[in-house]
Amino acid sequence: MVHLSVDIGGRPGVDCRGFCEYCYFKHVKETEPFGCRYCPPYKKGCDYCSRSVREYYQGWKDLRTIADDVLARLQTIPDEVSRITISGGGDPSCYPQFTDLVEILSSMEAPLHIGYTSGKGFDDPGVARFLIDSGLSEISFTVFSVQPDLRKRYMHDPTAEASLAVLETLCGEIDVYAACVVLPGVNDGPILEETCQWLEDKGAKGIILMRFANQTDHGLILGNAPVIPGQRVQGAEEFRDMVTGLSRRFRIKVSGTPLWDPAIGSPFALASEPDLLEKLPRLVGNASVITGRIAAPFIRKILASRGRGTTVIPVEKDIACLITIDDLKSLDPSTLAPLVIIPGRAFLYDREVRDLLARDRNERMIMRGPDTLTADAETSMGMTRNEVLALEMEAFSDLIRLINRYGVTEDPPGTR
Ligand code: SF4
Repeated sequence: MVHLSVDIGGRPGVDCRGFCEYCYFKHVKETEPFGCRYCPPYKKGCDYCSRSVREYYQGWKDLRTIADDVLARLQTIPDEVSRITISGGGDPSCYPQFTDLVEILSSMEAPLHIGYTSGKGFDDPGVARFLIDSGLSEISFTVFSVQPDLRKRYMHDPTAEASLAVLETLCGEIDVYAACVVLPGVNDGPILEETCQWLEDKGAKGIILMRFANQTDHGLILGNAPVIPGQRVQGAEEFRDMVTGLSRRFRIKVSGTPLWDPAIGSPFALASEPDLLEKLPRLVGNASVITGRIAAPFIRKILASRGRGTTVIPVEKDIACLITIDDLKSLDPSTLAPLVIIPGRAFLYDREVRDLLARDRNERMIMRGPDTLTADAETSMGMTRNEVLALEMEAFSDLIRLINRYGVTEDPPGTR
């Protein structure tokens, strides 16, 4: 069984009928390549960390190119296609030949998924019936609010009523996962409760709430902070508590990113599973594990349960995957162990990190940890608790094995 992903191109904001007020691609500046896990050892900067990270597309791909590409890939796939997902930098609902595209893909008779849409391109409520008849089985749909005026004002959706009518019909017939960036004072509080209630009544599967980020240390690394000058932002704990409260009030699944999925207990559900922690390898090596502010307490708790000698060091960035070299500049190298583990997906160039952390004239071994140690709400939305726990067990086992293999077995500074 093969999942076919169909990339239709498009530029965020530009090919979305204009930028939503809260779009993280707004004001993105040309920045130097960050360096990342894909860069070759001799060069800082590769296609991923200089182009893909800013979803740097040329524009929509034309329909013929997409169709030829799908056809060519089908010829190399030995198995039956079990699912087709439409994705791109622009918003699929705004693709100029959207109905032709869906017709072509539906002729393959596999369930269709739309990976993400704001629905801003849906001007006719009848689109919903067309999509259902074409085999659409799952969609992730940004709602922001079920009040049309708010969608118009903050998403620049010119036909908000039609978009919401499409969403309503889809909720009743297929798997709909709604998404909502929460702007405190704009679409939170009673307005958010109204949105959750509406989605529950119409039959959505769930809603993922996204904490709005407005500063570099929240994760805006493309030189584009603030996205909305003066907009209030929730602290991680305040946001988590809001998610908890809403998940108790509504039957649909309510989860949040970066925190949290109350039904599963993730991210880092493993931290509250003592029986499973016992099954992780013993930690005998020493290392300094660098991570983000949100993950640090969880990783510290999990590693400490398997042995002492490894320190977990948060830098001033909420999200570990969005750590850049600037975040490491405030670290005092003399407090670090000879083995330093950086997050697998951080935007760091290994050689630059090695030089920066050798300022005390002690060379340190820099290694990348697993790509991910947990599942955030966007990932866990379609997973069971056991699947998330299995993912975390495997990732932490890999991390501990890495530390045991390369970390010297003496206490690093600050752990005695
Ligand atoms: S639809 Fe998504 S990508 Fe497009 S402007 Fe809005 S937030 Fe940005």
